[in-house]
Amino acid sequence: MEFIEKELEELKNRGLYRKLRTIKSAQGHKVKIDGKEVVLLCSNDYLGLANNRKVKDAARKAILKYGFGAGASRLVSGTMTLHRELEEKIAEFKGTEAALLFNSGYAANTGVIPAVAGRGDLIFSDRLNHASIVDGCKLSHAEVRRYRHLDVKALERYLEHASEDEVMHAQKLIVTDGVFSMDGDIAPLDKIVELAKNHGAMVMVDEAHGTGVLGTKGRGAIEHLGVDANDIAVNMGTLGKALGSYGAYVAGTKSMINYIMNKSRSFIYSTALPPCVAAAALAAINIVQSEPERREKLHKNARFMKEGLDSLGFETMDSQTQIIPVLAGESSVACEMMDALMEKGVFVLAIRPPTVPEGTARLRVTVTSQHTRTDISRALDAFKKSGKEVGII
Ligand code: PMP
Repeated sequence: MEFIEKELEELKNRGLYRKLRTIKSAQGHKVKIDGKEVVLLCSNDYLGLANNRKVKDAARKAILKYGFGAGASRLVSGTMTLHRELEEKIAEFKGTEAALLFNSGYAANTGVIPAVAGRGDLIFSDRLNHASIVDGCKLSHAEVRRYRHLDVKALERYLEHASEDEVMHAQKLIVTDGVFSMDGDIAPLDKIVELAKNHGAMVMVDEAHGTGVLGTKGRGAIEHLGVDANDIAVNMGTLGKALGSYGAYVAGTKSMINYIMNKSRSFIYSTALPPCVAAAALAAINIVQSEPERREKLHKNARFMKEGLDSLGFETMDSQTQIIPVLAGESSVACEMMDALMEKGVFVLAIRPPTVPEGTARLRVTVTSQHTRTDISRALDAFKKSGKEVGII
């Protein structure tokens, strides 16, 4: 097993080694790591719902009523009342006819993409799409054209070529993150939908980071850009980020959802989500719908953080959301910066290749609605000192 030690050593030398950090408290804007309280700036719990009283109460009640495990796959004996209730709620929230739960966003993307596109079909995928989309594309055996990040002209050229090709009769699927997980920018969904209509393609959007966050009703990037939900064939999203729970969903027409339920291997061959997890997500969607002030606070915090980082001279790329990348370049520099920030009581994760392209290692800052001005000011102060120590400002 010599290769294992060798490979791990190689990862360490290249600044790409990953390790786990244990949080000893509940999730929140501040957490305990190694006995020390730190400001947490790398969680996706954007609305502070992971430790919310109503969400926890809903889960607790569901455990008392339904027990913990679901016992089987949904298509065996695993479908319980709460799964159906949550699916109906998601469909209403997203403005679609139907929805289907998945056990995680990773399972959804790797299950849904191969269900809707297969050998002989064509997938057009933004270059910076999430790893689960990349893996879903690989599993599909379809031909994949990866277009330049956000570049609708490049996408259009690919679509035009495809129409001229012999692949005229193949399915065409355009797939994109709504909000890009490592960049915080937003896909031009309005333009993508227009292109899709002109070229007979389906559109799939991953709303993992937009759900609960973007749009006046928190429906996601689709709502934010005024796109009609009916123009999106597959509206996928997760329950483990702004919704503070766990799992994922796809929403769409009844026939699309029925098709995915019949074809998606990660749905068919996997035990259902515990009912209490569905109950927590249901409570979280109710909060998203009834407490828009959480969203407003989140956007204010994001602006305050981005403006602060920009004025200190950091490169925050084209972030438009609560995900704010701070470019470091080399992986080793990003790691030094992460360590320097941690010393000053701020936890931000260094994101390195292959998660992001070579030479664009970064600190991925995420704010939540729970952060106070004091937390953010403290973080900005730590960024200023650490940035000077490692030489990126
Ligand atoms: N899609 C995107 C855009 C993501 O950022 C993530 C999680 N980081 C996923 C899918 C996977 O979701 P999950 O964590 O529920 O597996």
